[in-house]
Amino acid sequence: MRVAVLGAGTMGQGIAQVTAAAGFPTMLFDKLEGRAESAKAAIGAQLEKLVQKGKTTTEASRTLLDGITPSQSIESASEGADLVIEAAPEWMALKVEILTAAKKTAKPDAILASNTSSLSITEIGRSIDEDSRVIGLHFFNPPPVMELLEVVRGLKTSKATIERALSFATAIKKTSIVVRDMPGFATSRLGVILGAEAIRMLESGVASASDIDRAMELGYRHPMGPLKLTDLVGLDVRLSILEHLQKELGEQFRPPPLLRQMVRAGKLGKKSGEGFYVWKDGVATERKDA
Ligand code: NAD
Repeated sequence: MRVAVLGAGTMGQGIAQVTAAAGFPTMLFDKLEGRAESAKAAIGAQLEKLVQKGKTTTEASRTLLDGITPSQSIESASEGADLVIEAAPEWMALKVEILTAAKKTAKPDAILASNTSSLSITEIGRSIDEDSRVIGLHFFNPPPVMELLEVVRGLKTSKATIERALSFATAIKKTSIVVRDMPGFATSRLGVILGAEAIRMLESGVASASDIDRAMELGYRHPMGPLKLTDLVGLDVRLSILEHLQKELGEQFRPPPLLRQMVRAGKLGKKSGEGFYVWKDGVATERKDA
């Protein structure tokens, strides 16, 4: 099975790693020049660490890397693909534009998937005139580590597409759930509201960022506190999701002003080096002004 991953940011990079690890030849494209190549290099660096820890072999990591080919356009990346997964920013018009271009060169029966966290799969399907082949394949961050694959079926997604998506989930060793196409699905809807409330608590001075996180980690056994998780996801990504869910589901999803300010200031979390924490070499430390 040939896979095209379109968008090589936080998620696209990890998704390409997962599909290549399952032995699927994977084409990787990003609109930013050099981004697909740097994503491949970053995967190589991570695999190297795993080799040093004895968790994989040099040979296996070389085979995985050889399976990922950076590409120069959506059309060339999607050429002959059986599965297209777009992982571009959370804007409907962009997702429609990308999948419209991809379907021109992908196989006529290719699955056209979106990694969207909240947008309507039904609307994407209708907009690209391919509603039976469009499906949500919602990976979690970081894709090589997180076990869940949320499979989102649009109103007109065919049974065959769902079944092929579930076989794909098994092949990449993920546990899947199938959910209806409702804004925010079964995961983002709950995840972002917890994150937004934590930001509002920080704004009103309830406790420091690290204490709010510790409260949920130690008091509720969350593996990671909501503010650190927001940093990991990307503050811009969370803001787009909240804006969409506010429109669709109501005022409880109104983005906190602090989140907007931080996005305007370029404090996007782990990927920009600063968010609710300062990030260096993948490790978060408390901000001095916290
Ligand atoms: P990101 O900002 O890290 O990466 C997006 C990438 O898409 C960037 O590299 C950008 O250059 C590229 N891009 C922009 N326009 C493009 C185009 N026309 N063609 C190809 N590439 C283009 O964002 P992300 O965090 O990887 O999120 C991507 C999608 O995954 C979003 O829909 C988001 O909601 C979803 N998602 C994110 C997370 C997370 O934790 N970050 C988790 C699950 C799902």
